Amino acid sequence: MTSYQQLSILAVGFALFAFLSKPIQSESVNLSYKGFNKKDVMKDLRTIDSIFSPPPVHFVGDGFRVHSLITPRGPIRSTRMNPFIMLDYNAPHFFSPALTPRGVDVHPHRGFETVTIAYQGEIAHQDNKGGGGVIGPGDVQWMTAASGVLHEEFHSESYSKEGGIFQMVQLWVNLPAKYKMSQPKYQPILKDSLVEVSVGSNSSVELVAGSYGDAHGPAETFSPLHISNVQLSREDIVPFSFPSEWNIGLLVLEGGLVVNEDQEVAKDHFAVLAHDAASFELRALEGDTKVLLLAGEPIKEPIVSYGPFVMNTEEEIRQAITDFQQGVFGDWPQD
Ligand code: MN
Repeated sequence: MTSYQQLSILAVGFALFAFLSKPIQSESVNLSYKGFNKKDVMKDLRTIDSIFSPPPVHFVGDGFRVHSLITPRGPIRSTRMNPFIMLDYNAPHFFSPALTPRGVDVHPHRGFETVTIAYQGEIAHQDNKGGGGVIGPGDVQWMTAASGVLHEEFHSESYSKEGGIFQMVQLWVNLPAKYKMSQPKYQPILKDSLVEVSVGSNSSVELVAGSYGDAHGPAETFSPLHISNVQLSREDIVPFSFPSEWNIGLLVLEGGLVVNEDQEVAKDHFAVLAHDAASFELRALEGDTKVLLLAGEPIKEPIVSYGPFVMNTEEEIRQAITDFQQGVFGDWPQD
């Protein structure tokens, strides 16, 4: 069998896997705050649109046990959190020691970026355009698939041997049409390079991308967006402001979150904010609250996605499948 035939089989397998692994959506709770009376608050603050409980878990490969919160079909639709078109959350989960690392074998991507944030455990990545490495707690791997890569994602060898708690987020960030067929790129963003801004007595905003006040995160992005880990303590109020048309989401990783005066968001839940104002405030309901904050300007272009490809038209999706089957994405390096 030629390697192209092997890859074609892999493509069909992956598409089938992507289809079959969609979580059941109906168990998500969607609490609307549209009845919230803004006259009750003194300031004009951006309110919560909806809060989503974590949908049932499913496995991506055998290494990532995830709640798929943002997908094309929901519970949070890609169009609602655009440019963040996919979010898989591997909430803390214990993996037993294993001789063979668990993960996802070689598969393609085109048309967007994968952003992987490790919170506990280690992830080893390799792609066929020269990107690769191991990321550990606090590190971020930012892969711009653009015109196309093949990559694999596994637990690192050392973490696999030890086993332990694993926690991570994988985001898919859409690319504007003009960059979808640009050169692939890989940014390893280690925790040391994240920009931490202290707020109040014991809170902080740790920037991966975008800005907070005068500080800027290290990631290079193709459209205006902000990704940060926000550490909150009870005594501080941490303010944010983004253009009101930006889409904003908050994933509670630890503790309990309060948005503005009194809107509570529980651990593992995801709050999507409304577009009714620019500013909002975060504080902790409990001590040691940690939140992943996503904010981005919507890319006002059609989204057509099929498994690992995200383009603007169906024709471009057909082209991606053909290109993949014909080996345009390149070969997988042989050991
Ligand atoms: Mn992938």
